[in-house]
Amino acid sequence: MEYLPIFLQLKGASVLLVGGGSVATRKARLLLKAGAELTVVAPEITDELACLLEQAGGSWLQTAYQIDEQGDNGLVHLFGHLALVVSATPDRSVNEHVSTDAKAHGIPVNVVDSPELCTFIFPSIVDRSPLLIAISSSGRSPVLARFLRRKIEALVPAAYGRLADFAGRLRAVVKEEIPDQTPRRLFWEQAVEGTIGELVLAGREKQAEKKLRQQLQQREKSPCGEVYLIGAGPGDPDLMTFKAVRLLQSADVVLYDRLVSSPIVDLARRDAQRIYVGKARADHAVPQQAINQLLVDLALAGKRVVRLKGGDPFIFGRGGEEIELLAEHNIPFQVVPGITAACGAACYSGIPLTHRDYAQSVRFVTGHLKDGSVDHDWSQFQNTAETLVFYMGLAGLPVICHQLQAHGRAPDTPIAMVERGTLIEQRVLIGTLATMVDIVVREKPKAPTLIIVGDVVKLHQRLAWFGEVPQEDAQS
Ligand code: SAH
Repeated sequence: MEYLPIFLQLKGASVLLVGGGSVATRKARLLLKAGAELTVVAPEITDELACLLEQAGGSWLQTAYQIDEQGDNGLVHLFGHLALVVSATPDRSVNEHVSTDAKAHGIPVNVVDSPELCTFIFPSIVDRSPLLIAISSSGRSPVLARFLRRKIEALVPAAYGRLADFAGRLRAVVKEEIPDQTPRRLFWEQAVEGTIGELVLAGREKQAEKKLRQQLQQREKSPCGEVYLIGAGPGDPDLMTFKAVRLLQSADVVLYDRLVSSPIVDLARRDAQRIYVGKARADHAVPQQAINQLLVDLALAGKRVVRLKGGDPFIFGRGGEEIELLAEHNIPFQVVPGITAACGAACYSGIPLTHRDYAQSVRFVTGHLKDGSVDHDWSQFQNTAETLVFYMGLAGLPVICHQLQAHGRAPDTPIAMVERGTLIEQRVLIGTLATMVDIVVREKPKAPTLIIVGDVVKLHQRLAWFGEVPQEDAQS
């Protein structure tokens, strides 16, 4: 290890910054954010730096840096009480001079982009104050450190700072209740990773504190698990939300079905138990009631259970039914929204669901009712300025096309069938209400498929960048 990462308390500490250009300005912003009292030495400074100094009460000595035993230009006295020195000038000899002077006074010094002149270096920072993550390549490749920072930024929710504040506030309370270090650490681990942590991240600190105090009192009793009903999106794993991935990775057990692609299930911890409760259209592998009961049983056994749903849990996902039983048993749960198939398939096939010229509203309709029929009040679908999206409509397509025409939609109304939307195998079939049934008989698309009806489908030709359109269908 070439450097020791440490975190400096700079509130009220004097820091000398040599240089006034854009690089110096960036360093000034950071140092002022940490509460430093800044003295800038430079013949000129940027407007932004002037502004920062004015706001934060720092000072600017308008002079070039030169300091030696004879030529005291007012800086010597500074060195007596400096906490840090930073040099950010384009002039190598000035930088060297600053570095030598700081070292002679035993003051930590950083020279931007010259690790050999530094006694400390600045890391790339992920700031979730009070939580701070510092990344360094030991001066080798700041670009790589920044690249890693962006990755970590995406992994660590913005609200983690709140979680650190919360833990800081209750640290003494927990310590008093659990004086021994190991059980205390285990308690905190469970709290941060579990319902308490999630409540804080959701901005419900009061509830979280109540829960924490309750758990402190009931530590001996067996803990109740929790259930996360997570929308996994339509298939492409990149369409999962940060929250969905985070909770999935914390699960002891994962229940998933046919609509959830395997790269998504693979995001779970390696040692997590995976239970397939897949559903095909007319063949429910595990009956819904059994799934509902399984969620309850696993949670009561103290497990963290993730129920992965394709798309969004509350859009044709029976999410409501699955959490009803949990609520009845007072089992903590959360529902995480996902990108529904309509949004995913529409975006990936260049069909905007609304468009100022073509459609002012959009309606999500089931193409498969509970009793297996497609028995809607078809007269409600006559509005040509409304896009219709049919879920579960592959088997019912002939009925859908026939009924829409029978109730006033023109035979040449454009219709798209998006097969396996957002996945690598996505295919888009384009036709009209009059031709689509034949196209589907010929092309034999595989489930899942989504049907989009309306003039917006015309835009597919121009806006699609993904998915294949058989030419003859595109023209029909
Ligand atoms: N909760 C899900 C919908 C479940 S109903 C959501 O919000 O997307 C199942 C239906 O969703 C399928 O019959 C199909 O019509 C549609 N669907 C789900 N994933 C799809 C995909 N990748 N491509 C096309 N349609 C999809």
